[in-house]
Amino acid sequence: MPSLPTVEFDVIVVGAGIVGCAAATAFANDGRKVLLIERDWKEPDRIVGELLQPGGVKALEQLGMQDCVKGIDAITCNGYRVIQGDKSIDLPYSYEDAKPGCAFHHGKFIMSLRTHAESCDNVTTLEGTVGSLLTDSEDDNTVVGVSYSTKTEKAKLAYAPLTIVADGCFSKFRKEVNKKPVSVKSTFVGLILEDCKLPSPNHGHVILAQPSPVLFYQIGTHETRALIDIPGTKIPSLTNGAMQEYMLNTVYPQLPESIQPSFKAAVDNNKFRSMPNSFLPAASNDRPGMVLLGDANNMRHPLTGGGMTVGFWDVVRLKQLLSRENVPDLADHAMVMTQVKKLHWQRKQLSSAVNILANALYALFAAGDDLNTKVLQDGCFGYFELGGICVSTPIGLLSGMLHSPSSLILHFFAVALYGMYLQMCKGPFYLLPLHFYRAFMALVNACVIVFPLIFAEIQFR
Ligand SMILES: Cc1cc2nc3c(=O)[nH]c(=O)nc-3n(C[C@H](O)[C@H](O)[C@H](O)COP(=O)(O)OP(=O)(O)OC[C@H]3O[C@@H](n4cnc5c(N)ncnc54)[C@H](O)[C@@H]3O)c2cc1C
Repeated sequence: MPSLPTVEFDVIVVGAGIVGCAAATAFANDGRKVLLIERDWKEPDRIVGELLQPGGVKALEQLGMQDCVKGIDAITCNGYRVIQGDKSIDLPYSYEDAKPGCAFHHGKFIMSLRTHAESCDNVTTLEGTVGSLLTDSEDDNTVVGVSYSTKTEKAKLAYAPLTIVADGCFSKFRKEVNKKPVSVKSTFVGLILEDCKLPSPNHGHVILAQPSPVLFYQIGTHETRALIDIPGTKIPSLTNGAMQEYMLNTVYPQLPESIQPSFKAAVDNNKFRSMPNSFLPAASNDRPGMVLLGDANNMRHPLTGGGMTVGFWDVVRLKQLLSRENVPDLADHAMVMTQVKKLHWQRKQLSSAVNILANALYALFAAGDDLNTKVLQDGCFGYFELGGICVSTPIGLLSGMLHSPSSLILHFFAVALYGMYLQMCKGPFYLLPLHFYRAFMALVNACVIVFPLIFAEIQFR
């Protein structure tokens, strides 16, 4: 058999998406020789990763990549507006030193990250699809590189002591490290609205619609992204007009008046896109020679726009753990494993807070006609209306600025208790037993929502 050409690097990164570009840059800036392999270098056109929270902006700064949000027509985001019926409340990014977040076209941001990564001296880029991971001939648990195909050549090999796999939400290599099941609670259907008049400019908008939430955020001078959550995995047909009907009959009437004209125009335009909203608890990276990062290893509902923030902070932490100072030789697998295992717990302060918040908030906001969960939703809205730390701490968690799962749990149960209190205050007096029952069931529901999420986060593997 003819010998295949080989190349040697310190680190191979699979996937030049959000996390892959950041990882390639971080390791290259630390003096490592990096090969960044991406199957398609054209500007992607996706409905994901369009709002970067302040915590994500901060992580980009730590990576020296803050300029990647410049020159892409990004829109400053100063917080959220939550709208429930005819009531609304602003939740400004008010936690400590929070700077604004920003929103943009995903494709433009990706191209900016790629340009940055490509400009690093130590990064070699390559268009190819990674087909398999190569393992050591004496120990098939240890990854030593990848096999990839380009448009013209098949089964090319590249070797490195460390392979970082960041191949996204439909990861091919996830199961090499993370065998937990991916669950999909709902689907986001995306639309682009032209010149939409948002009630609170420079804010993400969350409409607590029935049966589940609708999001709006401006992603360019003239474009606003709408993400309509549809519970479950089945969505109305895109071809027989059922989707348009759903949008016009179910969603449209629940939207603020100022949004309705551009929303209707976008629906008439019929350019719907959809993505599953997945949940995947992270697994500890215990495969020598390989680290699984980004959506490949950990996903949460995108309601709170936390995925990129978690991904960037994972890179910040991994870069530190595997710096040349801490691990001079990446071929020292024992040392690399010791450091990489620390990542699993170090990242929890942020990732657990973001993951639990996103999934718990989704459960509340998608209450549908479940009256017990509706008590929690009303409690949440009322809690925000109290202001002060009832806003600054939850928004600090959501924005990725406050890395504290314990604060999250505390505020979650405070919301539940406040919802129970509001329920008990409802008249008339003779319905008190019913209100008591409803309040009690809301507390049970709160536990049913949050405890499995906490459990998913505290697993060792
Ligand atoms: C509907 C939706 C909306 C979202 N909105 C937000 C938001 O507003 N804010 C936020 O922070 N997060 C959001 N997220 C989450 C966010 O998009 C992800 O967390 C983030 O994109 C993950 O980055 P990644 O690098 O892991 O994957 P990706 O960015 O998807 O990158 C994976 C890359 O790997 C490449 N690749 C895949 N397989 C191979 C292969 N075999 N060989 C070579 N290359 C390969 C792909 O082409 C791609 O470029 C959203 C998610 C969804 C589903």
